[in-house]
Amino acid sequence: MKFALFQGENRPHIGLVTDRGVLDLTAAAQRLGLPLPGSMEELIAAGAEGRRQAEAVRDAATADGQGPWLKEDQITYLPVVTAPQKIVCVGLNYRRHAQESGLPVPEHPVYFPKYANSLIGHGADVAVPAIAQEVDYEVELAVVMGRRCKAVSAAEALENVFGYAVANDLSARDLQRRTNQWTYGKAIDGFLPLGPWLVTADEVGDPQKLQLRCLVNGQVRQDSNTADMVFSVAEIISDLSQIMTLEPSDVILTGTPEGVALGMNPSPWLQHGDEVVCEIDGLGRLVNRIVRPS
Ligand code: ZN
Repeated sequence: MKFALFQGENRPHIGLVTDRGVLDLTAAAQRLGLPLPGSMEELIAAGAEGRRQAEAVRDAATADGQGPWLKEDQITYLPVVTAPQKIVCVGLNYRRHAQESGLPVPEHPVYFPKYANSLIGHGADVAVPAIAQEVDYEVELAVVMGRRCKAVSAAEALENVFGYAVANDLSARDLQRRTNQWTYGKAIDGFLPLGPWLVTADEVGDPQKLQLRCLVNGQVRQDSNTADMVFSVAEIISDLSQIMTLEPSDVILTGTPEGVALGMNPSPWLQHGDEVVCEIDGLGRLVNRIVRPS
């Protein structure tokens, strides 16, 4: 299933991407008098029962033909989860990206945090703070956890994943390089577009076989495959879960492949008006525009 979260009249609505457009599950459930979790976080935490309710609403709305279905371009998208307890990012997790950064391939995963203030949806503008000059893109596979887990093995790790989404780990390199901790260049308002959809793990299959791309104003900058990851999704989840309890809706960003502006000479930093497209096969296209204060 492909879920979307978007702005309804008064509150976020949960949508389901179908052949006929995006089915507004929240509106359909209300119209039909059927139960449905009130938020994406509640739906994820409800596990199999949440998905069963979503399927029941979809089937009833399809059977009576009343929907409502929305066109994808009529929607104001929100990030696919808005209030995760944790957002953990992995740095230097693609071999060729470590090389272009002039840094050794790490022996252990390099972690840093982002926070919910950075989350924005597909189609939203990225408002760059005046202090940030060297703004860079990073297409990444985002993992959204489905079940609480602690100290899981790599072999069982993927059973705890709800689904996957496209992320752009936007980074201000000048702020990131001020110190050897990256948070100041990463945890910026609006610097984590996440979407357009949240695709359930059963539809994605092996997360280490996905082609991912980033285009700036139509020009391909990154074009790689999750097979180049140093630490696999399963290894990252297992490693993190040795020290922290992972909760439903927690987000893990799994690193970016080669092709970032940082690795080029001269570096083509993002400018006002640039359109950044991040896409992963089967997970959709995440499009955002860069806006700089004048
Ligand atoms: Zn990153």
